[in-house]
Amino acid sequence: MKLRQVAGVTMLRASLSTSGYSIGKPGVPWGAIERATWLSLRKTSRSYQEEVVRKISSLKECFDVIQYGALSYDVEKFPLFAIKSRDWNPEKPNVLVTGGVHGYETSGVHGALLFLETKAAFYSNKFNIVVAPCVSPWSYETIQRWNAASLDPNRSFGKDSHPQAEESLALMRFIESLNIDQWLCHVDLHETTDTDETEFRPAKAARDGVAYEPDTIPGLLLTHPTNILKE
Ligand SMILES: [Zn+2]
Repeated sequence: MKLRQVAGVTMLRASLSTSGYSIGKPGVPWGAIERATWLSLRKTSRSYQEEVVRKISSLKECFDVIQYGALSYDVEKFPLFAIKSRDWNPEKPNVLVTGGVHGYETSGVHGALLFLETKAAFYSNKFNIVVAPCVSPWSYETIQRWNAASLDPNRSFGKDSHPQAEESLALMRFIESLNIDQWLCHVDLHETTDTDETEFRPAKAARDGVAYEPDTIPGLLLTHPTNILKE
């Protein structure tokens, strides 16, 4: 089954490299019309409120739940949350965990929530812990890498990034508001998806007006051929 998927990816890659992405003109960066077209074609596939916010609400007994903003696309639907461990102590090292910077990378969002549900209270004896489990909730619902403005939040954290993704800006402002001098570690949860090569890299090339160069998906490369046949 995996082998057929690999073959499917290869075939789609070939067709994309000759015909280009469906939005925009080859070699011309997207403007407002192309970005609006891209946005109009996104579909909501799952509920941030049901799958993420509900779980966050159930953590309130053991952690401080802070709403640090809301996405302007829909402030009711997309509040932004961080969860802080209690017994905060400046003597303890500080640890930050982020998930869902890329909303389509589901395991990061639910991995961060699972950490909160199962292990974070134990580790909070030794560490001050802050978790932002779903940094880009619109992208979570639509299973997209980019935000609604077709920007990659993970390429928008620098102060000089322009234009800046509001998801990144809100998180940076929140982190600054904590006034923490030193973070011992930041665990930023990502994964590689099969759609990177079939959708997101071609879309990025089209958006930026550059030629799409077919590449490989690291997860597939790391799997030995014999293992693919077994799966
Ligand atoms: Zn990612």
